[in-house]
Amino acid sequence: MLGLYLHIPFCSHICNYCNFNRGLFDAGLKARYVAALETEIRRAGDGGAADTIFFGGGTPSLLAPDEIGSVIQSLRDRVALTAGAEITLETNPETVDREKLERFREAGVNRISFGVQSFQDAELKRLGRIHSADRARAAVREARAAGFDNVSLDLMMWLPGQSVDGWLGNVDALVEAGPDHASLYLLELYPNAPLKEDMARAGWSLAPDEEAAEMYLRAMERLERAGLEQYEISNVARPGLASRHNLKYWTDGEWLAFGCGAHSTRGGVRWKNVSATGDYIDRVTAGLSLVTERRELSASERLEDALFTGLRLVAGLDLEAIDRQYGTDVWKRFGPALAPFLTEKWLILEGSRLRLTRDGMLMANEIMAVFV
Ligand code: SF4
Repeated sequence: MLGLYLHIPFCSHICNYCNFNRGLFDAGLKARYVAALETEIRRAGDGGAADTIFFGGGTPSLLAPDEIGSVIQSLRDRVALTAGAEITLETNPETVDREKLERFREAGVNRISFGVQSFQDAELKRLGRIHSADRARAAVREARAAGFDNVSLDLMMWLPGQSVDGWLGNVDALVEAGPDHASLYLLELYPNAPLKEDMARAGWSLAPDEEAAEMYLRAMERLERAGLEQYEISNVARPGLASRHNLKYWTDGEWLAFGCGAHSTRGGVRWKNVSATGDYIDRVTAGLSLVTERRELSASERLEDALFTGLRLVAGLDLEAIDRQYGTDVWKRFGPALAPFLTEKWLILEGSRLRLTRDGMLMANEIMAVFV
């Protein structure tokens, strides 16, 4: 089964830490972009069958529900979408109200992923976000009232000036909001992020590494106590509600991606669309190729990807399945380099399953470096 990803590169405001492919919202540009997106979908070859659709961005909830519905219909015309397919819309809390959420639901969306990031107004302001904590809480209630039974919240951890207690306050507020799924991301500061300048000016610093580790471990404990089970390094969910779309990225799956800068992976080939929104629209309109990079993955790259992504999952890697698929005995090849991590109790080998412990998740980069 394929996953389908749609990139929507518009935001009503640019956050000061954001390095995604996005730009400021412009109604005319948005209308032309949606038309181009539908043309790209129509031109795609045989679609096969899919069981997930994911609108990511940017801020996809800046599109009108009719536009989302029309894009979903274009996808249905090309691809056999399974009954009960998971259809996610990334949503910023300030862009919706109950009525708009109801209309997204009528358009076919059945999973809402809110970019909340923090439940403290001072932190939200620091990040350049334009919603308040109360708006985020209200948006979750509105989503429930609109009938959504699969709601995810994103929080960012290790923010400038954030203490362990401040962070745990955010985690408690998330639990109180009652989502079905949550993603906890570490703030990553790219070299020229305006937030870096703000931090220098205001004297905000990041908590030391040991405190970041404590934030992570204690958050996971609290979320699990609240019935949100960890299934991936950064993701927790109520039983049965892990993101089916994102699992494709971590389980060697295949996906087709549409829109500017979108990456697809299918049949061992990975390709990327042109990044700039205007360029994308022009090329679609002129009937030109959108692909700027295309690479057939070598057997060793595919194996490396499977190891990197699979180890992110709490369930870990099934070494027998990997041997069957890639003809590689992972333990024979990497065992000597991995053994010290077993001694440290960062890794566990149970039968043919190799998985990270929670402490090991903090050391994931170091451990995965063995596979390179
Ligand atoms: S809303 Fe999201 S995509 Fe848009 S600028 Fe902020 S972080 Fe970036």
